[in-house]
This record gives sequence, C-alpha cells and structure tokens, in this order.
Amino acid sequence: MRRFLFLGDTITRRLVVTVALAAGVTLLLLQLFFAFGGTWAKPDVQATGLVQQVATVIRLVDAATPAERARLAAAANTDTIHYGWYDAGSAVAGVLERGQYLEPQVAQSRAFLEPFLARKPDRIVVFQEDNPVSWAPGLPYDRIRNPDAYFVGVRLADGSWILGIALQRFWGFYPFERLMLQVVTLALWVIAVSLIASRQLSRPIEHLAESVRQLGHQPPSASIEEVGPREIKLVARTINGMQAQIQRFIEYRTTMLAAISHDLRTPLTRIRLRGEYIDDKWQQANLFRDVDEMQAMIDGALSFFRDDAASEAATMFDLPGLLQTIAYDYSDQGHRVDYHGPNKTCYVGRLYALKRVFTNLVENSIKYGKAPTIDLEQRDDGSLIVFVRDRGPGIPPEALPRVFEPYFRVDKSRNRQTGGVGLGLTSAQAIIRSHGGDIVMENREGGGLEVRVMLPAMIQTGRNVSGPAHIGHMREKPAR
Ligand code: ADP
Repeated sequence: MRRFLFLGDTITRRLVVTVALAAGVTLLLLQLFFAFGGTWAKPDVQATGLVQQVATVIRLVDAATPAERARLAAAANTDTIHYGWYDAGSAVAGVLERGQYLEPQVAQSRAFLEPFLARKPDRIVVFQEDNPVSWAPGLPYDRIRNPDAYFVGVRLADGSWILGIALQRFWGFYPFERLMLQVVTLALWVIAVSLIASRQLSRPIEHLAESVRQLGHQPPSASIEEVGPREIKLVARTINGMQAQIQRFIEYRTTMLAAISHDLRTPLTRIRLRGEYIDDKWQQANLFRDVDEMQAMIDGALSFFRDDAASEAATMFDLPGLLQTIAYDYSDQGHRVDYHGPNKTCYVGRLYALKRVFTNLVENSIKYGKAPTIDLEQRDDGSLIVFVRDRGPGIPPEALPRVFEPYFRVDKSRNRQTGGVGLGLTSAQAIIRSHGGDIVMENREGGGLEVRVMLPAMIQTGRNVSGPAHIGHMREKPAR
C-alpha cells in the first residue's frame, strides 16, 4: 500500500513535484542565461586560457633576437588574438609610452599575467578600442570588423613593445563581479521557488485551519470538507470524527440535563399542592415563592437547552437592520431605544440566535437601567462591535466577573420583580463565542453599563450558508 502513496495526492508527492520542477526550471533558466546572457554569461578571463596564451608569446618574443621578434610575433597570430612587436624608437612604441590607461585595469592584468612570465616586466598597459592609443597607425587588426577589441602591451627590457590584441571579447566579468551576479541571481531564484513551493504546501493547511475556524459558526452537525492532499484529508476526517464524538457526548449530557429539569416539575407541583395544607400563611407564602423561583429556574434551563439544541444555519443578513428592528420593537412598546451606526452592513451568522442575544441585552438595559442605546462600529479588519449602553445602576465591580455564570443575579431581591433567572447572559455569551466573538461588560463613567459584543469578520465559505435573510421576516422566532 505504501508503495502507491506516491501516486495519490500526498504532501510527499507535492514536495517531490515542486522540488523536481524547481530543479528543472533552474537548469532551463541557466541554459537560457548562457545562451542569451551577454558578457556576464561568458567564462571569466582566466578560464579562457587567454592569459597563458599571451604570456607564452611574450616569453618567446622576449627570448628571441631583435631581428627575429617582429616575424615571431606575427607568426603567433590566431583567429582570435593578433600580435605585433615594435622597436623602442618606433612610432607605435612612442604612442604606447605616452598613452593614458586605467590604472585598476592595468593592475589587475599585471596580476593575471606576471605568474606566467619569466621576467617581471616594468611596464604593462591594457586598453580598449575606445582608447586613442588604439588609433596608432599600423596596428595588426581591422577596427571596422573588430569594434570591441582588447589590447595588452608589455614593454621588454630593451624598451621595445609587444602588443597582444584580442579581436573580440570572449570572456566575461572578472571573478568577483561574476560571483556576485551568480549569488544574486541564485538568491532571487531560490526565494521565488521557495515562495511557490511553500505556498503549494501551506495552502491546504491554511484551508484546513480556516475550515476548522468556520466550523464554530456552523450548526453542530456541520463537518469540514475533506479536500487537499491525502494527509490533510486524513486530518479533516479525524477532526470530523472527533467533532461528531464531542457532539454526541454533548447531546447525551444535554438530553440528560433536560430530562432531569423536566422531571423536577412533577415533584415541584406536588410540593405546591402540599403547601396548600400549611396553616401558617407566612410560611406558606415563603414556600410558594421558593417553588415559583425553582419553577422559573427549570423553565429557564429547559429553554436554554432547547436553544442550544436548535441547529440554526448561518445566513448572510443585514446586522444594522436587525439592531434597528429590535430598537423599533421596544420603542413601539414605549421604551425608547436609540440606534447609531451604519445603515447597512452584511454579516454572516446565526440570525435568530444573534437576535436573541441583542434582544436580551436591550431588555436588560430597559429592565435594570434607563436611556438604552445601541451603537454599531465596523473596524478596518472587517470585524463588528455592537455596544449596548444604559444609564442604570451598572454592576458592582466585584460581581462583573460572575455575571455570565448560569443563574447568577446581582441583586436577587431586585431581580425577583424583574422576573429573570440569570441565564440570559450565559446564553448570550455561548452564542457570541460560537460565532468566534466575545462579549464583555464595563461600568460607564457617570453610571450605567456598557456591554460590548465583538463579532469577527466572517469569511463566507459557501457551505452551510443560506441566502440573504430578510429582517422583516424576523419578528417571530423560528418554529422549533
Ligand atoms: P436575568 O434573566 O436575571 O436578566 P441575565 O443573565 O440577563 O439574567 O443577567 C444577569 C444579571 O446581570 C441580572 O440579573 C442583573 O442583575 C445583571 N444585569 C444584566 N444587565 C444589566 C444592566 N444593564 N444593568 C444592571 N445590571 C444588569
């Protein structure tokens, strides 16, 4: 089985294909580089053997008698290099003596030539076709046919000169420049190949990470797509399996808790009935109040579990529309709620669950405070922040860390009239966190509470997301 791993879409295969492609393209580019790369693609001057050739001719001419020298130099001519020897008193020798030369070029050529010469010459000159010296009459080359000729002249011990003329440049840059160019080209190429290769390998992993992140915004039954190379598919399958297992476990616990809560209703009803036989009216009233409170707590718990079990799909909807609807609904009932923020912003999330959250927050502001307001802000990164503020008593600082705990109520006697059981914020926090966001509370300066709901930017994956929802249809909760 392992033998065939290479045939499927695996990370190993992607890596091998990428590296093979990179190597192939590098070779191809190198060939193109040498074919069309101009001067800097040619081998350096030492590798051409040019220096040794010139040095050998200089040594031969130097060793010959003056009468032989001119003939020897001419006889050494090849297709690529021509030579000439000039007596100390000749016109060319005079021009060579008086010429202006680029000293660094001369020094470099001296360093190349000297190791191959028997005697260290006291004068070496190097110049190109653009130097006026190259116009000296009678030089053994055709300046029309060889417009980029190179010259090296060496003065012999008797003051005569030997001149070597490379008719065309067939060597490239000097070693240091060549090395730098090769290093820079290679570095650029390696960076480009690494970027492409790492993209190839990291894309499926990023896709998987994004799918897992999106999973939090989907109904509990949702699973992530098993796509990409074999190893990533395997991870996706394992996550899906784990998710299903966790889901089954949660469902079992929820069902059990719901059953317990439900079954508690019967003994509570019996207690209430038996309470009718208590003669002490004060004790009886206390008992009934406790029973009512327990009843409310059980009802709260049951509706919390029901909400939790409802698998609502994410939809794209207009968040300001939702907030304005809530504000209008309360204003209709005589509680003025102001909304500030954009008129239209699309958001992808569980519409009815979010409606419950914001309704609960606004209801709390009305129940416990006054002058409630809703503010919506959109951040540059696409995330949204909803502020629900009021001018009420706020929450004592020591109670702030506990307000999201189930059944936590700041002032039980105050809450008794308002009828809450302390599950609203617990449920709100669970819903907002399942959207990848968070909810925090802070007391305001000058009194009152500020609730901040942070919703991250949502990337629509196209899976488990239905079409745009119409806020006008949202006044009723969906039938469960
Ligand atoms: P409840 O059903 O009691 O309203 P919540 O979970 O919604 O439960 O709120 C928990 C407690 O936090 C409330 O009982 C109340 O004491 C406090 N609280 C919530 N919102 C406000 C607010 N806007 N101002 C003051 N206290 C608040």
